[in-house]
Amino acid sequence: MDTEIVLSADQIVTRYGSVQALHGVSLSVKRGQVVALLGANGAGKSTTLRTLSGLVPAASGTVRFLGEDITRIAAHRLPHKGLVHVPEGRRIFGEMTIRENLDLGSFTLRDDTERRRRMEHVFEIFPILARRQHGDARNLSGGEQQMLAIGRALMAGPKVLLLDEPSMGLAPQMIREVMNIVQRLNREGVTILLVEQNSKVALKFADYGYVLEAGRIVLEGPGSKLANDEAVISAYLGNVAA
Ligand code: ATP
Repeated sequence: MDTEIVLSADQIVTRYGSVQALHGVSLSVKRGQVVALLGANGAGKSTTLRTLSGLVPAASGTVRFLGEDITRIAAHRLPHKGLVHVPEGRRIFGEMTIRENLDLGSFTLRDDTERRRRMEHVFEIFPILARRQHGDARNLSGGEQQMLAIGRALMAGPKVLLLDEPSMGLAPQMIREVMNIVQRLNREGVTILLVEQNSKVALKFADYGYVLEAGRIVLEGPGSKLANDEAVISAYLGNVAA
């Protein structure tokens, strides 16, 4: 496998006003990998993704994407470069149709043929979205909305996807479906940084994992090693349901 680092954080510090959420987080994601970012509620997982994708500014530290320092680049310019964030809670537009939501994902694209090709690809991965493309997004179930959020991200043609808790609030069967799709996208060449509270689910197929605790990385290692380490599980990965 190519071992080029495509995305990295070096000593990231992030604050919300007087609250310091990240205390010097460093991590790296290599091309073709699925990397899991784990940790309890409030550990700083979402903040790490938001800092990587420029949604919140880093107070200090550096974010690099494909060799470029992107720490101070505006969030809206990053999808164009291939770094796409699927935020927690999906953020789809309920009053708009599924197709319109997908179109929003390709706002950076001028090429209509490529846009159509991408939409066909999304519809092939998520047939339910194809069947309901003219219906309002608000009528989708939670799992279908998660699919739409991922589909919209795919419309941007990501090289790296930042996925924030795609399993949140989903029934086990739907979690499996969403995770199968994550694996498929990875096989198709998309590098993935996956935030999960459900560490057991994430470590099943993550190449590498990081554990965050109170804004610091306290542990890292190959996914299979973290998954099988009982001490690690009981100390850091309390939530191992499903
Ligand atoms: P969760 O799984 O609950 O989303 P998380 O690991 O993603 O947890 P973050 O949401 O990144 O954690 O939160 C990290 C810390 O930053 C927490 O102490 C949280 O209360 C705080 N925080 C997060 N967002 C904000 C905000 N918008 N304003 C102020 N504090 C925030």
